[in-house]
Amino acid sequence: MAQQREYLVVGAGLSGAVLGRELAEAGHRVRIVEARNHIAGNCHTERDAETGVLVHVYGPHIFHTNDTEVWEYVSRFEQFRPYKNRVKAQTGGRVFSLPMNLLTINQFFGKTLRPDDARAFIETQADLSITDPQSFEDQALRFVGPALYEAFFKGYTQKQWGCHPRELPASILKRLPVRFNYNDDYFAHRFQGIPEAGYTAMVARMLDHPGITVALNTPYDPAMADTVDHVFWSGPLDGWFGYDIGRLGYRTLDFERFTAPGDWQGCAVMNYCDADVPWTRITEHKHFAPWETHEGSVLYREFSRAAEPGDTPFYPIRMVEEKALLGQYTARARAERGVTFMGRLGTYRYLDMDVTIREALDAARGVLTCLSQDTKIPAFFSQPT
Ligand code: UDP
Repeated sequence: MAQQREYLVVGAGLSGAVLGRELAEAGHRVRIVEARNHIAGNCHTERDAETGVLVHVYGPHIFHTNDTEVWEYVSRFEQFRPYKNRVKAQTGGRVFSLPMNLLTINQFFGKTLRPDDARAFIETQADLSITDPQSFEDQALRFVGPALYEAFFKGYTQKQWGCHPRELPASILKRLPVRFNYNDDYFAHRFQGIPEAGYTAMVARMLDHPGITVALNTPYDPAMADTVDHVFWSGPLDGWFGYDIGRLGYRTLDFERFTAPGDWQGCAVMNYCDADVPWTRITEHKHFAPWETHEGSVLYREFSRAAEPGDTPFYPIRMVEEKALLGQYTARARAERGVTFMGRLGTYRYLDMDVTIREALDAARGVLTCLSQDTKIPAFFSQPT
């Protein structure tokens, strides 16, 4: 083995835990510091004291991937139970199935269309003059037309992102499928599930290695870098620089907790698409663990707003203004020595959990290659832009 190194990983979320684990397994010493009082970042799960239900503290997290290696990797640390995300959505005082599928289309328009008829019908709704949709709004108008766009996407997106859908990139809508059959599975991925004992239990097992130490409630201090060979930073990219040329915009979420006996809404996630309902969705956490039984139920009403200093960042905004600032921070990051930026916050990207893990595995391999070839560890293994 190459000489043993000492690494500092800032952040005990998925990026930090996977990278730390891989480096520790390769024989290096890994010190992880985490500013929050828990591991697992925004996929943290904990038992609700009142109901005993396992809560997705930062909102719904369903694991889905086509990446066999990533699936096998997470399954090493925690048993995954099969779980299909089937979302319901309220609009105009009615409940529909999401993602948009044949049931949604037929119920919304009061029809009994078969797949080919539905496809042809939606074409009559769609704005075919839009040939190269760039914005969220254009993408929606091009593929589902104004009625479905107004009912399901416009209000929700305005609430979720705090701006008009024409200001957002088409890539956000491309996360959602539109299906001309009755498949209401939110994700099309081959592997889908939820860890039986929660994500925090999974991350705890990743971190359970003699080469790893974890300090919670420990914000990064630049003096820490002096005692290690390299720093891996999974905090906000601009945070590394003290936000000195401005803050990259994020949306944060507020959760209003309430409890109810039994089953309050009958499903895990109910979206509220109307602009005049202030929340975006309500999550009933017990439905994420149908293998458990609880008398009581705990629910989170979810509100989205612009993140202020001190708020937990959730979704990077990445609009024109942010992209210019991101370019500046990225250039500065590349000029730094002794630090690598990674993960959702470190590269300022909207990342699903499986992609985060894939990138952390690749980063760990990259680090080991740099060590064996005696080359500099780069500022980024995955580029922010
Ligand atoms: N979206 C919407 N209506 C919905 C659900 C989603 O308009 O009922 C839009 C919204 O802009 C959201 C995007 O689609 O940000 C992606 O949805 P996804 O479910 O992937 O969001 P996440 O679960 O990551 O918040």
